[in-house]
Amino acid sequence: MVHRQRPKLGQHFLSDARYCSRIADALDLCPGDLVIEIGPGHGAVTGLLASRVSRLVAIELDTELAAELRQKFAETPEIEIIQGDVLQTDIGEICRHHGVDRCYVVGNLPYYITSPIIHHALQFAAQVRAMGLLVQREVSDRLVAQPGSRDYGYLTVFTQLYSSARVVFQVPPGAFSPPPKVHSAFVRFDMRAGGPIVSSESEEGLLRFLKQSFAYKRKKLLNCLAPVYSRPKVEQELGRLGVPLGARAEQLSLKQFVELFLALR
Ligand code: SAM
Repeated sequence: MVHRQRPKLGQHFLSDARYCSRIADALDLCPGDLVIEIGPGHGAVTGLLASRVSRLVAIELDTELAAELRQKFAETPEIEIIQGDVLQTDIGEICRHHGVDRCYVVGNLPYYITSPIIHHALQFAAQVRAMGLLVQREVSDRLVAQPGSRDYGYLTVFTQLYSSARVVFQVPPGAFSPPPKVHSAFVRFDMRAGGPIVSSESEEGLLRFLKQSFAYKRKKLLNCLAPVYSRPKVEQELGRLGVPLGARAEQLSLKQFVELFLALR
């Protein structure tokens, strides 16, 4: 069967075997681990990942590719192919089904939904040990940005709440077929051992607080928060934290956000 490439599904397949091996090696996988692969495509990394662990569940939206993969791995019982949308996939349920507390999430992501996939996967942070995701370089810059830098924003802080992320290696467009227009980077996310740094009751409130803080890109943080909290109280707490009243959200560290959130609640 000749597969019709679907650019709308972000189909840029890895064609350079060296990068496939580097992805498979990047998460220190052990026999007994469960891997969930996002968007396996033609399976460039699937077999390599599966050879390191005892179970791999691959989620592919494209029905033709899912059928091709089922055929390709028909003799490999440790690989399960699910045809479906990763954004609708319950990672916790897959872990429970396989009798493990936590899994590894790996994928060369379809770039049109990179950010939604990271948000979706991090909702299951408690069931994930680590993730290794190939993303466009511009997103990797945002994931690992420092406060005050151009790339630092909601995605950075949201990611830090659940994990520590680092770029492991860069991937040039020529490593894919067809080559994407952008450079890529493989990012490893190690989940925080004790879960997010606030209690589960506070987590939803903190996420709302972060969204409110970053709601208006060029506005001062004080002005972003004033519609929701008492302005004098925000001024007082910013002062207590040593944050200038004119600061924008992009200048605060996660620790400062958490302290401010807890003080304003
Ligand atoms: N892993 C393969 C590789 O490295 O060659 C393919 C990577 S390609 C960049 C992204 C893959 O994700 C494609 O196979 C595409 O069909 C699939 N995909 C796109 N949207 C998806 C979704 N919402 N859920 C699951 N898979 C999706």
